[in-house]
Formats: sequence, C-alpha cells, structure tokens
Amino acid sequence: AQAIQATKLCKVYPNGTQALKDVSLTINDNDFVVVIGLSGAGKSTMLRCLNRLIRPTSGQLSLFGEEITTVNGTKLKQVRRRVGMIFQQFNLVRRLTVLENVLVGRLRFNAGPINRGLSIFRIFPKHEREFAFECLKQVGIADLAYRRADALSGGQQQRVAIARSLAQEPEVFLADEPIASLDPRSSETVMQILSQIHEEKGIPVLVNLHHIDFAQRYGKRILGMSKGELIFDGTSRDLDTTT
Ligand code: ADP
Ligand code: ADP
Repeated sequence: AQAIQATKLCKVYPNGTQALKDVSLTINDNDFVVVIGLSGAGKSTMLRCLNRLIRPTSGQLSLFGEEITTVNGTKLKQVRRRVGMIFQQFNLVRRLTVLENVLVGRLRFNAGPINRGLSIFRIFPKHEREFAFECLKQVGIADLAYRRADALSGGQQQRVAIARSLAQEPEVFLADEPIASLDPRSSETVMQILSQIHEEKGIPVLVNLHHIDFAQRYGKRILGMSKGELIFDGTSRDLDTTT
C-alpha cells in the first residue's frame, strides 16, 4: 500500500523562492527512503509539506489514501499525529526529564502548553508512563529516564526525540537531517535505531541526509533532489552506476 502519495507538488515561499517544482512521489508502506541533495535542494521543504507543517502551493498530497493537501484545524492535528517527525535540532523541552519529554508525544496535540508548575505526571496515568518507558527501551536509553533533557549528549537527545515520536504511535516517520549535528558514532547509532524501528514495527521511514555514505548504507531506496526537483529514484547500486 501507499503511505504517501505526492503529485506535482510545488512550493513557492512568500519571498518568491520556488523550493519544490512538480515533485511527484510515492512512498510505499515498506519503504526506507533516504533523500539526498545539496543544501538548498528542497529536501526539508518536501518533508515539511509531507507532514503538512507547511502547505504546498499546488499539487496533491495523500497519506494512506487520505487527501491531506489543504486540511486544517482538527483534521490537520490528526495528520500531524499520524506522522512522526525528527529534526536536526532535537526540540526537547530542556528543563523536563527524558521520560516527561517522551510523554509529550502522548499529549493530544490540542492540549495546552506545558507550564512550569504543571507536572506532566499528574496528567498521565501509570500505563501511559509505562508506555513511555517502552519507547525509551526501544531506543536504548531507559536508564536515562529521570535525567533532565539538557544534561544529555546530542546523540542521547536525538534518541529521546525518536522515543517521543514513537510514543505518538505514528504510521510513518519523517526525519529531517537527524544526524547533521551528531558525531560519527552517534550518527551510526541513530541511523541503526531508525532502521530497527522500520524493520520491527514495519513503519515506513523517510530520512533527509546530506552524507552520501550514510545514505548508501542505510537507504533501501534513495531519492536525489536538486534545485527543487526529484532527479533520482533508485537503489544505492543504481546510484553507483549513475555517478
Ligand atoms: P534543503 O533541505 O535541501 O537544504 P530547503 O528545503 O531547506 O532545502 O530549501 C530549499 C530552498 O528554499 C532554498 O533555496 C532555501 O533558501 C529556500 N527556503 C527554505 N525555507 C524558506 C523560507 N521559509 N522562506 C523562503 N525561502 C526558503
Ligand atoms: P511510580 O512508580 O511512582 O508510579 P515511576 O515514574 O517510578 O512512578 O514509574 C512509572 C511507571 O513506569 C511504573 O509503573 C514503573 O513500574 C514503570 N517503570 C519505572 N522504571 C521502569 C523501567 N526502567 N523500565 C520499565 N518500566 C519502568
């Protein structure tokens, strides 16, 4: 089945930059796709359209068969909940613990802001906290559950961010340069975790990377972008013979 179907997606930013030009793309539910391309190629814009963090200027987008191109309001929140998103910056709540950050993934997206005085534990019953622990175990850092998020290394913080996404029980994972600010060893760990989630849970994954070596080792399928266009769609072996 098709996790994501994009047809002739275009994105023109208000300043006139055309970041996506007629991008058509199908992500299957068993895909582990790595998107490569130089900085400015449009990788991030494409991911943000797929998650509907931004709205494409034209074209069509569907998520597991459901049209999402222009949904808004409650519908849009539902879409965001179904899509797990990982960023280069981990976007954790610094003063909360690791476990609390994972519980953030369990919050309904229309819940109010997390106030300083409001312990997240008061909102979450025990089984929710146990679920969060399971997510931490899947990324191998259950032992850090009660540490403050900002006390962790970059690699550990990205693992918390992945656990937070897992807690959301997403149907698809999108990762925008998840290893761009990590050292090589942490990068390897994060890519392995994403592969493992894909294999074990059968979740389709789309990762933007600018490291071609990581792309070739982890991408079952590789997409190449340049100047807002999709210029390559194949395996790493195909990539070897084209470049
Ligand atoms: P990549 O992720 O491949 O580096 P981006 O999607 O970030 O590419 O950027 C694609 C193009 O769109 C670039 O020319 C970039 O400068 C431009 N761009 C990205 N975000 C915005 C924005 N919010 N407003 C205007 N232009 C943007
Ligand atoms: P409390 O035990 O006061 O409910 P905790 O935050 O200590 O609050 O634990 C929340 C839940 O997570 C508990 O049900 C506990 O059994 C479970 N839990 C605690 N530590 C772990 C762990 N390392 N692995 C799995 N589950 C755990």
